[in-house]
Amino acid sequence: MSEDFDVVVVGAGFGGLYALHKLRGLGLRTLVLEAADGIGGTWYWNRYPGARVDIEAMYYSYSFSPELEQEWEWQERYPAQPEILRYVEHVADRFDLRRDIRLATRVVAASYDDARGRWTVRTEGGDEYDTRYCLMATGNLSVTHTPRFPGLDTFTGNVYHTARWPHDGVDFTGQSVAVIGTGSSGIQSIPLIAEQAVRLTVFQRTPAFSLPAHNRPLDPAEQSAVKRDYPRLREQARRSPLGIPVTPADGRALEATAEERRASYEKGWAQGTLDGLASTYTDILVDRAANETVADFVREKIRAVVADPVTAERLCPTGFPFGSKRPCLDTNYYATYNRDQVRLVDVRATPIVAITPHGVATADAEYTVDSIVLATGFDAMTGALAAIDIRGRHGLRMRDKWSAGPSTYLGLQIAGFANLFLLTGPGSPAALANQVACIEQQVDWIAGCLTYAAARGLDVIEATEPAEREWVTHVNEAAAGTVFVDANSWYLGANVPGKPRVFMPYAGGLGRYRRRCDQVAAAGYEGFAMSTAGVAR
Ligand code: NAP
Repeated sequence: MSEDFDVVVVGAGFGGLYALHKLRGLGLRTLVLEAADGIGGTWYWNRYPGARVDIEAMYYSYSFSPELEQEWEWQERYPAQPEILRYVEHVADRFDLRRDIRLATRVVAASYDDARGRWTVRTEGGDEYDTRYCLMATGNLSVTHTPRFPGLDTFTGNVYHTARWPHDGVDFTGQSVAVIGTGSSGIQSIPLIAEQAVRLTVFQRTPAFSLPAHNRPLDPAEQSAVKRDYPRLREQARRSPLGIPVTPADGRALEATAEERRASYEKGWAQGTLDGLASTYTDILVDRAANETVADFVREKIRAVVADPVTAERLCPTGFPFGSKRPCLDTNYYATYNRDQVRLVDVRATPIVAITPHGVATADAEYTVDSIVLATGFDAMTGALAAIDIRGRHGLRMRDKWSAGPSTYLGLQIAGFANLFLLTGPGSPAALANQVACIEQQVDWIAGCLTYAAARGLDVIEATEPAEREWVTHVNEAAAGTVFVDANSWYLGANVPGKPRVFMPYAGGLGRYRRRCDQVAAAGYEGFAMSTAGVAR
């Protein structure tokens, strides 16, 4: 016997929780299924040392409830994982969400019944849920990527992936530790692991561009000032490309003098934000020569901090533009390489050939370690959706439809998969922006769409093929002029061997995306076919 719902939401992270609150508020019988033993999504899983948000918490937080906004007090500018998880738990309690969430329930399949216009969602435990709508709030960075290093299973020490960190923490005191990977997760964890380990060896394939976070406790007066101004700031964030209230870039880097540029970059660097440098000038993310001036500036900063010139050069990113991969925000990352017990191995020069029982073997040496930390990232954007056997009309499998790369209409729906909605997925701006702001926009839009359909007695909603084709073309055009397509990033699936190389997020920014979604809604949900289940279309 299956249970019946109006909406089944998969995932209880920021997206799933807000979807539950919003859709339940419309009177829809809504259930959230979550694989983990707790809520929080990203913030449940990523408990590695130093895990913190890279968008200021005053904006990486829900805006749907003015009361919530006012009552919650953030402790730090960029809170660490425990504080964000506490916030999520508070939200769940405050809005009484837990009664409609089933934890430890992994969804493995979902199939659409054309005749009834309903989905059957199946779990690993064999339970079935019958639902009109299915909303995939599965996150765009949730399925971990572990490279297939030969011999990994023969290692006799402990192996940890940053995104599956033990809940009671790991004490590396007295240990020799290897960290593989220098993206955001590696860069945040390396300085803290270095404080404990007797020996830390970092295996770097591609050096990242990392900016200092200038994290600090949040001054209560500053927090109050933001709270007083929240209506204006949140609105500015909603309309901005990144979903944060920033003054848009002005002027072109290549038209400024070297002195003017340096002054602007110093200001951007001091800001301690992800976009501090990218938003100094309008041409940074679209003109390679302009971009190189920022890249040079960052490399100079690295050389100024790292004492050993060979290590400094290894840490300097070259060969791909600044911003083409999401920049990292760090605390003491580069300075960590001045510690005697920390060494950097360039695995582009000497690749990892195997993991041995006692350590990491590269093309020219074996490094004996007690523990290995894999900071090797995620099967981003599509990984969590591909892990579920999703079958739409006439048994069409999403894995087949997306075999050459994902296609969506507005990142919200897929032609052939009626009544299935995606959050923060391919074709949406979320991965390039403040994910919470993007989640709120998408959930609100979906709620509006379901309300519109219900008011007309319609209960089958499906993106049309032409609308999807047009959106895919637009997503490609939006990325084409930018530096985003110039790196081997997870935006392109390039970090997972064999994955189709397609630029997946929408590079037009949240503000532009919101305008487009609003226009589509105002035009009667243009590009979506709406009908009534069981009635021929
Ligand atoms: P990532 O950016 O994909 O970094 C993975 C690292 O592992 C890269 O340095 C990669 O090198 C390396 N790697 C992968 N396979 C390898 C192999 N076979 N041999 C050697 N090295 C290998 O993953 P992440 O650091 O977890 O971050 C992913 C995203 O999550 C970020 O971009 C960000 O959006 C989000 N995140 C945010 C924060 C935050 O600050 N709030 C923290 C963590 C994550 P290559 O670059 O050469 O592939």
